[in-house]
Parts: sequence; C-alpha cells; structure tokens
Amino acid sequence: QCVAVCPTGALMELDQVDKVWKALNDPNRFVIVETAPAVRVALGEGFGLEPGTIVTGKMVAALRRLGFDRVFDTEFGADVTIMEEATELIHRLEHGGRLPILTSCCPAWVKFFEHQFPDLLDIPSTCKSPHEMLGVLSKSYYAEAYGIDPKKITVVSVMPCIAKKYEAARPELGQDPVTPDVDIVITTRELSRMIREAGIHFEHLKDEEFDHPLGESTGAAVVFGTTGGVIEAALRTAYEWLTGHPLENVEFEPLRGMEGIKEAVIPIGERDFKIAVTHGLGNARTILEKIQAGESHYDAIEIMACPGGCIGGGGQPYHHGNLEILQARANAIYQEDRSKPLRKSHENPAVIKLYNEYIGKPYGDKAHELLHTSFTQRPKI
Ligand code: SF4
Repeated sequence: QCVAVCPTGALMELDQVDKVWKALNDPNRFVIVETAPAVRVALGEGFGLEPGTIVTGKMVAALRRLGFDRVFDTEFGADVTIMEEATELIHRLEHGGRLPILTSCCPAWVKFFEHQFPDLLDIPSTCKSPHEMLGVLSKSYYAEAYGIDPKKITVVSVMPCIAKKYEAARPELGQDPVTPDVDIVITTRELSRMIREAGIHFEHLKDEEFDHPLGESTGAAVVFGTTGGVIEAALRTAYEWLTGHPLENVEFEPLRGMEGIKEAVIPIGERDFKIAVTHGLGNARTILEKIQAGESHYDAIEIMACPGGCIGGGGQPYHHGNLEILQARANAIYQEDRSKPLRKSHENPAVIKLYNEYIGKPYGDKAHELLHTSFTQRPKI
C-alpha cells in the first residue's frame, strides 16, 4: 500500500483509497459513508475553490456518484456525543466525580495522554468520538431498522484527520474483534483524489441532501470542526438541562478564535463553570501539568491536537500554517452553524427518536455498551 508523509512529519498517512474502491465494487457489501464537519469547508480547495467555500451539497452528490449506498453525516454522531458528554458532565457534578472533564474526540490527543499522563486516565470523557458513534449506530440501530446484516456493512469515514485511521483500528472500538465500528478512514485529500479519478466534475454538481435518519444534524454538531466547538456545543445543551431555561445566545465568543489557550468563566444557574480550550499538544501539556500540580480549577477542558482544531487537520488540503486559510475555514463553520434551523444537539429530532426507540437514557446501559470506550496506559515516550 502507498503511504504519504503527513504535513507535520509526525505520522505516516496510510492510503486507503484502493480499499474503498474494492468495497464499492463488491456487490455483496452495503457501503455507508460519513463525513466530518471540517471536510465540507475544505474539500472545495482541491477543486480550485476558495478556502472556506462550503460544499456540503456537492460533496454529498459526489459521494452518491462514487457509488456509496448511504451518505450519512458524522454530525449526527456529534449530536449524539453531546447527549452523552453533557450527561456525563452532569453525572460527575451530581455524584462528586472527578473534574475537569476532558473532551476525548481527538485520537491524537487521546494517544498523547495515554502515553504522557497515565495518572489522569480517569478524567477524559469516556465518549467514543463522533465518527465511531455513527459507525456503531450504522451497524446496530440502522441495520436492525432496515434489516441489513451488519457483517455486510462497510463504514467508510471521510475525515480531516490522519490519526482517525489509527483510531478506527483500536480493538475496543468495535462490537467484536472482526466487526469494527468504522472499517476504513480516508482523508479529505484522498476523497478529492477519488472524485477526480472517477472523472466527476465536482464544481458542476447540484447540491444534494444527506440520507435520513443518520444524516440529520444541528448547528452544535457543525462547530465540532473548529477549536472551541465541542465545548460550545456541550454548553448549549448542559445549560438548558441544568437550568431548565432556554439558552437565547448560543454563541460563546470567549471560546472562539485562534489563541493557543483560551479560558472563560460561564455562569450556569448558581454555578460559574471554568472552561479552558486548547489546540496543539504543547499547549495541552501546559494545561495538564497544571492539573497534575493541583494548580488548575477548571470544570471542563477541550483539547485538539491540530492548529485551529479539525479544520487544520493533517488530512485536509495543505494549509502550510497559513492563518488566513484556517480562519476562512472557521468562518465557514460558523456560517454553516448559523444557517441551521436547530442549533442545539438535544433538539435534533432524529437523535430524540434514536434515544426513545433504541438507546433509552443517555449515559444508560445501552449507551455505555455502544457509545462509550476506555483508555489504556501506554509506555512513556
Ligand atoms: Fe484529527 Fe487533528 Fe481533529 Fe484531532 S484535531 S481529531 S488529530 S484532525
């Protein structure tokens, strides 16, 4: 198999395009694709469009022409992640659990703390990342509802990320050793290449919609794609659940922007929540060393390994550290959020139906079985 060096030189990118073509050409496979929020604001760059051009509809149309049986949205998985993570936060508050809670949807960051901070393994959220949640729900909830044998389903994730390829291969992220939640991960760049190889004129495609029900999402799920977004999405839900009042302004400005470490105090009911947001592993180390030394009093921290979060991921069109490109992608993410009729994860009707008909309570037994994971102490390097 072909490998390419990632932009930072830290990882080798495993090229999995051939595996996707093979699955698509196998009449016995039911091939589902899902796409991360950050992909839709960068994929157009591979076809000469300006950074920050939103190509969601064209991307869906291109994926159908490539032959995928269903085109789902990782953003559905992001809304489910918030249902679980906000509940986990509230559970820790009510039961004296350890704080701060750390977001856990970035596999590069997860691997970093498993190696470097094994004494803190109990503080990250146990939620699987959104694409893993979408993968397992495709092979359980969706497969059962539509009478499809899960063993015949191949789930392909299109991610801005090289580390997600490694994450999908983690043995605990599957229902049994031969049924991973996600089978194949390709990057934004690999998808561009597939579209070109298929001779599709991307720029001339008419917009199409994701398939239902795992293609429905809210604005809260979109903002996962940029630094600060996961915590912002969690706060939109936690605020309403903790206070019982509607949150009028869903945009948490202090959590936005390209500063390496952002801090904010967000009043929710009687309590002031101390939040930190960081991107880049050097900044993460600074924050974690403070926690180890007992010098930090945060309630929740979002950590992403890449500059700007997933919009700056190693699988995106190369940005060469150009802040203007990252800012244009972030602006597009916020524009997409504002364009959505629903902007809070717990209001997603397809997610509500999922819990009513299949999962039961967030953070309950079925949720733990399908949507949560564990972490492993690894040798210090
Ligand atoms: Fe992947 Fe980077 Fe996003 Fe982490 S921040 S999930 S490494 S793209």
